[in-house]
Amino acid sequence: MPALFVGHGSPMNGIEDNDFSAAWKELGPSLPSPRGILCVSAHWLTHGTRVTAMDSPRTIHDFSGFPRSLGETVYPAPGDPALAAMAAESLGVLGGAAFDHDWGLDHGAWTVLRRMFPEADIPVVQLSIDWDLNPDGHLELGRALGALRDRGILVVGSGNVVHNLGRIDFSTVDKPGSGYDWAFEFDLAVKKAVLEGDDAGLADRERLSGAAALAVPSPDHYYPLLYAVGARRKSDDVLVFNEAAVGGSLTMTSYAFG
Ligand code: ZN
Repeated sequence: MPALFVGHGSPMNGIEDNDFSAAWKELGPSLPSPRGILCVSAHWLTHGTRVTAMDSPRTIHDFSGFPRSLGETVYPAPGDPALAAMAAESLGVLGGAAFDHDWGLDHGAWTVLRRMFPEADIPVVQLSIDWDLNPDGHLELGRALGALRDRGILVVGSGNVVHNLGRIDFSTVDKPGSGYDWAFEFDLAVKKAVLEGDDAGLADRERLSGAAALAVPSPDHYYPLLYAVGARRKSDDVLVFNEAAVGGSLTMTSYAFG
């Protein structure tokens, strides 16, 4: 089973038909059918790693200022306590993961998954991002989760490589191609490192590119990439898709390893 990093961008991509959501729609059916999905979303930050373990995760509308139709959209995919246990077991030597019965599927997960798997019939668990862990720690967790791929589990990291909301130009947030120089510079440096398998460079982004401080002022949307990169294998092909900037300071560049 492949491992993915998906740039999710605006929550509107969950309901709007555009180039980005079209690529998600196309990608889903092109993959081998997963037994389950483990998603690491930029929008669930915790102390210690947690994994959702409920039977029916709720759809979380963790945004405001969007149309009512988005707020009313649900993604009723089942949970999978057995997959949660499998994930926690895989992370055992790295501290494991606590079972969570409160979270659900936040928009980093459901906006992407409802386009890829619209039937909502594949079980989904979310794994949180331990905010106390350094980049190498997130890579290590990704490596440990890579074993789930052999058990039919699709590992998905959902964030954005470049994500600086303080600099965003909302008038161009739905127009591919509108990116600041530093956004393109960092996005390209990351792509080069991904294609070359330079995990150490990806974990040390300030060294990777002088544009890192502007491109990633806070690493919440960057860390999901480290999970997908960690879960990759040397033998994997790399597919780059949705390679574009929007709103100046956001990039949608996404990777499929498999
Ligand atoms: Zn986001």
